[in-house]
Amino acid sequence: MSKIAFIGLGNMGAPMAANLVKAGHSVAGFDLVDAAKTAAAASGVAIAASAREAVASADTVVTMLPAGRHVLTAHAELLSATAKGALVIDCSTIDVDSARKAHEAGGAAGVLTLDAPVSGGVGGASGGTLTFMCGGSDEAFARAKPILENMGKRIVHCGGAGAGQAAKICNNMILGATMIVTCEAFALAEKLGLSAQALFDVSSTASGQSWSLTTYCPVPGPVPASPANRDYKPGFAAALMLKDLRLAQEAASSVGALTPLGAEAAQLYALYVAADHGGDDFSGIINFLRGAPKEP
Ligand code: NAD
Repeated sequence: MSKIAFIGLGNMGAPMAANLVKAGHSVAGFDLVDAAKTAAAASGVAIAASAREAVASADTVVTMLPAGRHVLTAHAELLSATAKGALVIDCSTIDVDSARKAHEAGGAAGVLTLDAPVSGGVGGASGGTLTFMCGGSDEAFARAKPILENMGKRIVHCGGAGAGQAAKICNNMILGATMIVTCEAFALAEKLGLSAQALFDVSSTASGQSWSLTTYCPVPGPVPASPANRDYKPGFAAALMLKDLRLAQEAASSVGALTPLGAEAAQLYALYVAADHGGDDFSGIINFLRGAPKEP
């Protein structure tokens, strides 16, 4: 069993750390917010007084933080207190450039590093069913895999430094754009007098098929488990989709890639979030595209 330091015990980090405890690891955790520490302590995480104290005796460090700047700041603080040869896994969703900088800083400090952003949301974090998209050396991936398996079901080695973040934002750019066009198709069908069920029955087995349609259908009825059936409660909040689409746009402009649909998806989600829908599920954008006002 490993001695693991877990930094960032928020919505995702707390249940992930809890699953590591359940698997029998000794987990020392740290967060800047007291409520997060209290919640994690209740599931058996030993709360440290600082990130440096948490990592002091760890063979593995996991960070789960909001954005690239938080990751670089936290890593700068904790690396000099981390044992040489330890493994540092960053599971946050961050920009590719910061991810690569974190690998460089880790390499200079003599630790193994992996970027390992996740998909699956808070439900996947609690249920231990996350997908991890990993970037780093074969050695770092081999060391991390058995630990990540305590928190997830699919652990994919996508390539070298930053490849996990690249996979995550490319995937979510596909997701954001397909969700919007799926919503547009249902809204158009309504105006044409075509029932949502009939469109679903055709497209779910035809060339318009996608995850946005068959697993996460944005209208109530055809897929009973989708957020559309519970008034668009997330699920995957629109604000997080916007974050990922902006990361994709940032990455695209840094390498000169043309992503016109990704750019349009980012703009539409920016409008949706600005209209006070950031906490709604991202499939709720169908109401926005229909022109429906937000209910008070
Ligand atoms: P969150 O805001 O709930 O948690 C982040 C935690 O990090 C907070 O508790 C904050 O206090 C803490 N923190 C910030 N700086 C710190 C520091 N220097 N040291 C210690 N703690 C620090 O966010 P979340 O929903 O848990 O998401 C975490 C990451 O996972 C983000 O990058 C997000 O994009 C990604 N993600 C989230 C979801 C989701 O559904 N929530 C899904 C996939 C990926």
